[in-house]
Amino acid sequence: MNGALFYASLSTETNSFSDIPVTYADYTVDMRRGDDVVHDSAGKVRPGAELLLEFAADRSMELVTSLSASADPGAPTLDSAYARLRDEILEDLGSTPGVRAVFLGLHGAMMAQSCFDCEGDLLRRVREIVGPGIPIAAVLDPHAHLTDAMVTAADILVFMKEYPHTDGADRTREALAVTGELLDQELTLSSAVINCELLGFFPTNRSPMREFVDAMVQKETHPEVVSISFIHGFPWGDTPDVGSRVLVYTRDNPVLAQRLGESVRDEIWSIRDQTMFDTLTIEQALDRVDASGEGPRVFGDIADNPGGGAPGDSTFILAALVQRRLAKVVVGCLFDPDSVRQCHAAGVGSEVSLSVGGKLGEFSGQPVAATGVVKGLGRSVMMNVADAAEFPMGDTAWVQIDGIDLVLISTRTQTYAPHAFTHLGLELEDKAAIFVKSTNHFQAFFADLASEVGYVNTPGAIDFDLARIPYRHFNKPYYPRGEMP
Ligand SMILES: [Zn+2]
Repeated sequence: MNGALFYASLSTETNSFSDIPVTYADYTVDMRRGDDVVHDSAGKVRPGAELLLEFAADRSMELVTSLSASADPGAPTLDSAYARLRDEILEDLGSTPGVRAVFLGLHGAMMAQSCFDCEGDLLRRVREIVGPGIPIAAVLDPHAHLTDAMVTAADILVFMKEYPHTDGADRTREALAVTGELLDQELTLSSAVINCELLGFFPTNRSPMREFVDAMVQKETHPEVVSISFIHGFPWGDTPDVGSRVLVYTRDNPVLAQRLGESVRDEIWSIRDQTMFDTLTIEQALDRVDASGEGPRVFGDIADNPGGGAPGDSTFILAALVQRRLAKVVVGCLFDPDSVRQCHAAGVGSEVSLSVGGKLGEFSGQPVAATGVVKGLGRSVMMNVADAAEFPMGDTAWVQIDGIDLVLISTRTQTYAPHAFTHLGLELEDKAAIFVKSTNHFQAFFADLASEVGYVNTPGAIDFDLARIPYRHFNKPYYPRGEMP
C-alpha cells in the first residue's frame, strides 16, 4: 500500500434565524463510520463513494473513512455537539498511519454557538495534524460562507456549480484530479478570492444563471486555470463572512486568478437583479390549480424549506387548500411526528382526527384540524433522490382529507423528489397539483412529472427579501442594502 487517503464528511447549513435547535442527536439521523461510509448493508457501494474507491485503487492507496455526518438545517449547532463531531474526525486522522492526502465533504455554512466558521476551524485543525505538503481537498455546497481560514488551510476547495445541486459527482472528480496532481508534485496552485458584495438567490436551471455557469465552465478550459467556483453564499447565516464570493485556482498564476475572479464578479454583478425566480402568492397558485387539466402543477412552498432551516410544519398552504375544498391535490412533506404516531396507531384504512402542523415556531402558522383516512404508512423511510442520494424521512404517513392527499414525516427534511410520496403508494400522475416543502431542489426531480413548476412565497423562516435580514454580526453594505462601494 502506498499510504492512505483519509476521508470524512461533516455538514449542515446553519440558519441563524431558525428556532430549530441542532444537537448531536440531529447528526445521528444521517451518521456513518468506517466501511459503512462506502458500502450499504447489502455490500453495495454507496452513491459517490465509488469515485474515492477508484482514486485510492488507481494509486494503490488505502481509503480510510472516518465519520460521515449531516444534520438537517436549523439554528447554530450546539458547541458540545460540534466539538464531539470534529474531535472524532481529528482523532481518527491523528491515529491513521501514512496519510498522504485528506479529502473532505463539507457544506460551508456550518456554524456552532460560538463558532462562525466550523469549516475553517476544522480545516485549520486538520492542517495542524497533517502538516504542510499533504494535500487537503474538499467539495462544498455553494450556499456557503467562504472564509480566509478555509482558503489558507486547504489546498483546493471545489464548490458545486449547479443549483439544484446536481453536479456533486463532477465536482468530486475534479477535486480528486487536483489532489492527484498535488500528490504527483506536478502542481503549484495560486488562488484568488473576490468578494462580490452582494446577496442573492441563484437558481442555475434558468436564464441568466444558466448562461453565467456555462461561461464560468468555459473559462476553466484555459490551460492555466484549475478551478473556478462561484459561492452563492447563504443569506440566513449571520456571520461577518456572509455573501457571494468567487474563488479561482490557477497553475501558479496569481495575476490570472485575480483577473478571472474579477471578471466573474462583474458578470454576476451585471445580472444581480435578474437571478431570482418569479413567485406567486398562495391565492395565485391556487387559482392556477382550478384551471388545471393537463397533469400536475408542482409548487415549491419556498419559505418553509427545512433544507434552509425552516420548520417544515407551516400550514399556510394547507389551510388555504382546505378552505377552498380543492381536489386532487397533494401536500408534503409536513413535519409532524405526533400526527405520524397517531396515524400509525390507527392503522391503514382507519379514520383519524388530527391537529396538523403549525407547532414549531412563529413561521409555522396555526395547526389545521383535519379528519381523514390513513391511506399508507412507512417505517424509517429513506427518500431516494434520482438514485444519487438518500435522505432520512423517519416514519411517514399518507392521510386523505377530502380531496387532499397529505404526507406527514417524523424526521425533518426537504421534499426533494417524488419518492417522498410514491413510497407510500400515492400516485402523482393524475393529480392537479403537488405542493412541496422545498425552495428549488425539487425542480430538478419533479420536472419530468410536472406540467408546470411554480414558486409560492409563503410567510416563513427563509425571508426572500434580502434587504431586511436582521444581521447582528454583518454590517457592511451589500446589494440589495445600503450604499454600494
Ligand atoms: Zn445548497
